Amino acid sequence: MESKKTGKTAKKNPSAGKLFVITGPSGVGKGTILEKFFHNNKNIIYSISQTTRKPRPGEVHGVNYFFVSHEDFEKSIQNDELLEWAKYSDNYYGTKKDFVLKALEKGADVLLEIETKGAKKIMEKFPDCITVFFTPPNLDELEKRLRGRKTEDEASIQKRLKIVKEELELSTIYKYTIENDEVENALNKLQAVYDFEKRTKSEAQSEDSTCETSESEAASEQ
Ligand code: ADP
Ligand code: 5GP
Repeated sequence: MESKKTGKTAKKNPSAGKLFVITGPSGVGKGTILEKFFHNNKNIIYSISQTTRKPRPGEVHGVNYFFVSHEDFEKSIQNDELLEWAKYSDNYYGTKKDFVLKALEKGADVLLEIETKGAKKIMEKFPDCITVFFTPPNLDELEKRLRGRKTEDEASIQKRLKIVKEELELSTIYKYTIENDEVENALNKLQAVYDFEKRTKSEAQSEDSTCETSESEAASEQ
């Protein structure tokens, strides 16, 4: 990154937090696993997204999402307030830029739970981010879970299922892939990824305060 004032190349903040991106098809179980993951890991911050989707029963503004109108969402795009955004199943979803950048700058680890197009944008902007893709055991099981959740009408289920093939075809671009067969199994694997990545972060920081964290070791986990 080039500084406009000095023309010098800016050094990375060596104590910045790590950015984790969790993605995967709708209904695969991301939310279920993350709820347990956050219960066990109090030091990683969840980035609350903004969406134009209507709240489901029990969802709370400012907890699950910031629920906004189409007009307000489009204003956020124009004002460059989002780190990434995507249209998914007829609604907008986006990550609040200020919140995430400030938290990372302060040294906190941040986790985004976003769909695959948004994940790709984040990977381009943050090549060091840690991406985890959750896969279902098979497509029938995915549909069963999506229907079993009873949150979508038939049209929304069909829209979500329609893009699953596309999402699964890109599963190799992520650093880690975890099959959500059993919740406990998948949760343990996510925990192992997090612990491993935390370790490489502190090792890299103590070795060289200016170097970027090496990912080659962790990449072999895929
Ligand atoms: P996502 O956040 O990826 O859209 P959810 O976490 O809402 O998915 O899970 C969708 C449904 O599947 C929920 O009803 C959840 O209880 C169920 N589910 C999640 N993981 C599993 C699993 N490993 N086995 C069976 N059902 C699961
Ligand atoms: P849902 O409507 O089921 O809550 O979410 C639909 C999809 O949008 C999920 O795959 C979820 O991960 C994704 N999503 C949630 N927040 C964001 C976001 O900020 N950006 C993007 N690109 N996707 C998001």
